[in-house]
Amino acid sequence: MKQSNAAEKLTADQNQLAKHAIQVHKFGGSSLASAQCIVRVVDIIRQHCQLNDIVVVSANGGTTDALFALYHQAILQTETLEISLHDIKSMQAQLISELLSSSNEKRLLTQLDADCAQLKKWLENSPQQHQADILAFGELWSARLLSEVLSEKVCPSFMVDSRDFLVIDNDKACQVNTQVSKTQLYQLKQRHKLAVITGYIAKNSQNETCTLGRNGSDYSATIMASLVGALNVTLWTDVDGIYSADPRVVPSARKLHRLPNGVAKELGRLGNPVLHAKTLQPLTDHSTHLHVASSFDPSISGTEIGKFGQIAKQELSVTFLNDLLLAQSDSFTGNLGEQAQQEFSAVCGDDKAGFIVIHQEQQKAVSQWLASHDTEVKFTPASILATVGHKVIHHGDVQARFKRSLRHSKTFARVNSPNEHSIMAVLTQACTTELLNNVHHDMTKDARHIGLVVAGLGNIGERFLEMLPAQLSRVPALENVHLVGLVSSKKALFNNDGIEVNQALSLYQKDAQPIDKSELMSWLANHPYDELVVVDVTPSEQFSLLYEDFFKQGIHVIGANKWAASSSTDNYKSLLASAAKSKSLWFGNTTVGAGLPINYAINDLLNSGDNITEISGIFSGTLSWIFETYDGTLPFSKLMLDALSQGITEPDPREDLSGRDVQRKLLILARAAGFELSLADIKCQNLVPDALQTLSIPDFLAAADQLDSFFSEQLNQAKEQQCCIRYIARFSVSESGKLTAKVGLEVLSNNDAFANLTPCDNIFQIKSGWYQENPLIIRGPGAGRDVTASGIHSDLVNICQRLNTRQSQVKLKGID
Ligand code: ADP
Ligand code: ASP
Ligand code: MG
Repeated sequence: MKQSNAAEKLTADQNQLAKHAIQVHKFGGSSLASAQCIVRVVDIIRQHCQLNDIVVVSANGGTTDALFALYHQAILQTETLEISLHDIKSMQAQLISELLSSSNEKRLLTQLDADCAQLKKWLENSPQQHQADILAFGELWSARLLSEVLSEKVCPSFMVDSRDFLVIDNDKACQVNTQVSKTQLYQLKQRHKLAVITGYIAKNSQNETCTLGRNGSDYSATIMASLVGALNVTLWTDVDGIYSADPRVVPSARKLHRLPNGVAKELGRLGNPVLHAKTLQPLTDHSTHLHVASSFDPSISGTEIGKFGQIAKQELSVTFLNDLLLAQSDSFTGNLGEQAQQEFSAVCGDDKAGFIVIHQEQQKAVSQWLASHDTEVKFTPASILATVGHKVIHHGDVQARFKRSLRHSKTFARVNSPNEHSIMAVLTQACTTELLNNVHHDMTKDARHIGLVVAGLGNIGERFLEMLPAQLSRVPALENVHLVGLVSSKKALFNNDGIEVNQALSLYQKDAQPIDKSELMSWLANHPYDELVVVDVTPSEQFSLLYEDFFKQGIHVIGANKWAASSSTDNYKSLLASAAKSKSLWFGNTTVGAGLPINYAINDLLNSGDNITEISGIFSGTLSWIFETYDGTLPFSKLMLDALSQGITEPDPREDLSGRDVQRKLLILARAAGFELSLADIKCQNLVPDALQTLSIPDFLAAADQLDSFFSEQLNQAKEQQCCIRYIARFSVSESGKLTAKVGLEVLSNNDAFANLTPCDNIFQIKSGWYQENPLIIRGPGAGRDVTASGIHSDLVNICQRLNTRQSQVKLKGID
């Protein structure tokens, strides 16, 4: 029995392992810079890794720089070499001592001693010959330490020196010998142990150490991913994604949530340190996902790099490279110019104007190459500043903006990259922080991307969607709005790349999937937009209960749904507090009066310092129609049934006659005017007699004539005084601050402002400090497909205008 259980367990484990596709996690130097950082990394590995995954590490932060410095000191034979060697060793020794138990500490310190003795020998005797060997210690120490810490604290782990399997055929181009490397890696892998592999270093075909260039561990990670067919590569770093500019230098940089492969490649080429230029090369089949995340705050979703569509295309970034050389020569024209660009992997060039832009260390090589063509060359110090985005060179407006932004700089030329993803300005001055910030501002100032989710695809939701394409192309504030979700009570369609707005409903019919609350919330929590707006056109109380969660996630809400705004005082206050805390906006212009700007009017009065003392009027289109039409010619019940058949009432007319809807609307307006009250504080006259309230709908409709005597009596009494009857909402506040609120039938003079409406119209009357004797009146249709949908559009424009000007926050080292 026991045995069979164990066997079953083993197969289950194996199945589990087989099911788990390999993930590669690369930790950069900045994530391994101190004992505290390493502890954080260990936690990430505990939570995110399984035993057959691969961890790739860079040298502990600053170590490669220190090793380079040692190397240069050795070449120059400076006296400080000994001190620097001592410093580098003590930093390692300190990490070891802080992180390991004493027996392991001792072992690693002994190994460190041996390594440093070897390092010293190379530095003193043959630094040039051993440059790569010297640099390799950084990754070696880092991998050894991390794997020991993991073995002590998390799971069995072993360290792999990538030089034991990774073979580079061509040092210069860093071309991997895939077949040999793959076979050797599989030979090295140990079952049920987590591999920690050195990044940055490899062997060449002569069996010598070589490096993949600065920041090369990113490339190591994707090479290894391709060797083992990994599903995911995560580059864990000290910033929570790739930003529209270096966030250390440009505080207003925005996170690029989704970066198309081509753009990422171009950013790497143009010096973005988060991505080594070759990082994407091994992932040509695009079946491996690549993303950048922060080891300082793993909960934040970072930047995903992949094959993305229309959304990501519009994200622009700005990057620069200083310390370059502009090389001008006749030989850089025509075919020869093209050859030169390729030969030197020039940053950019123009074979008509006859120049290439290269790195300073290439000057000698370029001069030699030109010597063989017997032409003169002029070298000028230069820099490039580029704006990068998907197929950006084809955007005339971006070209124009970029040019304008650089009008005060010494721009030698502007060049489009052959891959079409960058426009580069060649500057004969260094790119300063100020210039970078200015150009970044000009290129990205109105580029906050706003995701739009529409919940409720009934009559109004449909109309809202029908109007959406025209609004998006017409209203500048909606330029960066992307419809990304359509939700009904049963199904949902989400697409991070945007749902084609012209076919929204048909796509929904075709592709929507059943969804539950937790799936919905999980999607909303992980959306890749700067801002997300949920438009709630559902009539559902259930859906309104999600607002609290929306607000906690910083999601904005446009509610046509009255439930949340008229919920209990405690709930309402808690919603407002949650929204305020996470800076979520909550608009609900259409909860009362459909598209009529009553909520805006109230807000404006408050903003202008006014005091509202009274709000009254006819708030129900249905009750407006019924009482404007009811003159005694037809019995009340007949009129009500007419209204029902025309769709003027709810399917159960008692919902209108109960006055509850009007009561909720009055509560919403009174709250909007700054008063604290609840539904219970608003007296409500239910026009349905008790006896009819509990009947089924058909029974109620059959017994509707029982309503008639009451209404004819009311009407006749009113008529006798040259008056009429209307269903009125009234809220007022006395000078002493006492609130009075009620909704019910009132007898009004035939001349009253509320007595002469076009049937179905709403009327709102506000008395305030500014509008006392002569009140402010807003009247017009208070229901209907077009006016309600357009009221929601008005809210959307307002929200987007506010959001477009918001600054995003950079998460650098887990700090806002
Ligand atoms: P790692 O040590 O993880 O390899 P790097 O130091 O090489 O990380 O790269 C991360 C750093 O790159 C960040 O600290 C950030 O300041 C800088 N950086 C420069 N440009 C960008 C950018 N556009 N987006 C994000 N980070 C950038
Ligand atoms: N340690 C190497 C460097 O500092 C490689 C890397 O970090 O990716 O460049
Ligand atoms: Mg790096």
